[in-house]
Amino acid sequence: MESPKLLVLGSAAAEGVPALFCDCRVCREAAAKGGPDVRARTSYNFGGEVQIDFGPDALQAWQAHRDVLRRMRHILVTHSHEDHLQPSDLLYHSRGFAAVPALDEVLTIHGTAPTRRRIEREFWLGNKEPLETKLGQSRLAFHEFRPFDAFELPDCGALVRTFAADHWEELQPCVYLVTLRGRTAFVCNDTGWLPDASWDALAKLRGEVAIDVAVLDDTGMLHGAPEGPAGSEVWTRGHMSAPTILRAYDKLDALGLLAPGCVRAVNHFSHNGGSTHDEMRAFYEPRGIVVGRDGLEL
Ligand SMILES: [Zn+2]
Ligand SMILES: [Zn+2]
Ligand SMILES: [Zn+2]
Repeated sequence: MESPKLLVLGSAAAEGVPALFCDCRVCREAAAKGGPDVRARTSYNFGGEVQIDFGPDALQAWQAHRDVLRRMRHILVTHSHEDHLQPSDLLYHSRGFAAVPALDEVLTIHGTAPTRRRIEREFWLGNKEPLETKLGQSRLAFHEFRPFDAFELPDCGALVRTFAADHWEELQPCVYLVTLRGRTAFVCNDTGWLPDASWDALAKLRGEVAIDVAVLDDTGMLHGAPEGPAGSEVWTRGHMSAPTILRAYDKLDALGLLAPGCVRAVNHFSHNGGSTHDEMRAFYEPRGIVVGRDGLEL
C-alpha cells in the first residue's frame, strides 16, 4: 500500500470562508475569485482509515473524496467545538441511512470526556438509554481517552499520540501525532502556543518520532507579522498566527522532531485573519511552508 497522505478536507475556522453573514474583504474576494480562497471547515483524512475531525462539512468532503473516505475506520476528534464535530451526521452510519454501507464495519470515534458528552447530548438518547445502545445501532463505538494518552488503532496499526492543546480547556482539546504505515503526521489545531506539558512530552520523543508532515493552526493568518494587517497583534493563545507558527516550527526543529524533508504546512484559517490565500503564500512559501487549502494532499 502506498505511503499515507494527509488530505486537507477543509481549511477554514468555524465560520468558513466566505463566512456566513460576512462581507469583509477576504470573504468578498473569496466569493469573487473562488478557488483556494473558498474554504470549508477544517478536517483531515490520513491514509483513508484515519479521519481527524468530522464537522458540519463532512457531507461535502465525502462527496468530493468518496474514494478515500469510504475507507474510514476511525475518527480522532480534536475537541467538540461545532466546526470540528457534527454528532448527528454520525447516525447515518447505519443500514437504512447508508443503503449499502461503504464499509460494513464499526467506525470508532476517539475523543476526550467532553466530546463524549456532546455526542450524548446530540444523539437523541431516550430516557436512560445508554450511549452505547445508540452507537451500536449505527455500528459506531466511542473510545474515551485523556490528553497525553497514546493508543494503537488495532485494525490499521496506526499509533496515535495525544497532547493537550492551548484552547478551550474545559473541552480537553488535543493535538495529534499519528503514525500510519511508517509515515507520521502532526495535526496541530485548534491551539495556541502549546502548553509546557505538551512541549515536554514532545521533547521526550526525540529519536523515537520523526514528523513527516506537520500542519499548524493559523487561525490568525499573518496577524502580528509586518506583512499582516496594519497594527495587528500576534496570536499566541487559543489559536496562532504567523510569528507564533514560525517559532513553533523552530522549536520542533530544535527538538529534533522533524524528519529531513518534513512537509511544513499551516491551516485552519479565519477570514478575521484578514489575508487572502495568495497573500499568505507570498509570506509562507519563501519560508518553506505550504498554505492549506481544501483538497490539498500533503
Ligand atoms: Zn476550529
Ligand atoms: Zn469575512
Ligand atoms: Zn475550537
